[in-house]
Amino acid sequence: MTDIHSKETRSYNMSRIRGKDTKPELLVRRFLHAHGFRYRIHLKDLPGKPDIVLRKYKTVIFVHGCFWHGHHNCKYAAIPETRSEWWKAKINGNIIRDNKDSKFLKEQGWNVIILWTCDLMKSTRNKKLLSLIEELLTLR
Ligand SMILES: [Zn+2]
Repeated sequence: MTDIHSKETRSYNMSRIRGKDTKPELLVRRFLHAHGFRYRIHLKDLPGKPDIVLRKYKTVIFVHGCFWHGHHNCKYAAIPETRSEWWKAKINGNIIRDNKDSKFLKEQGWNVIILWTCDLMKSTRNKKLLSLIEELLTLR
């Protein structure tokens, strides 16, 4: 059977499935860009493949989905009632991996900033993004 998808299409589809270029992340990227910040994205040679990398500020930014990354005390991170033990184990595994990645990055001298998607919803977005920029400017 012939594979009708080109390699490019396939990797595009895969990246969609893994949740890259999700909307909140694009929002942060556009905002940074509009304010003159330059960055790289998804650098594979760094632990956890940070979503946004600002070398000049020695800073990596992760835009975490509240559910998958287990945002503490967040209503969007509620564990489903069906197969809840399985979900708990799954999400806890993600949290442990995230902590390990950011510890490793910090040991290498990176500033690690984590943005949660719930903070990027319409009502809180601008405040959050402005405080991100303030934070970056102190790191300069
Ligand atoms: Zn949240």
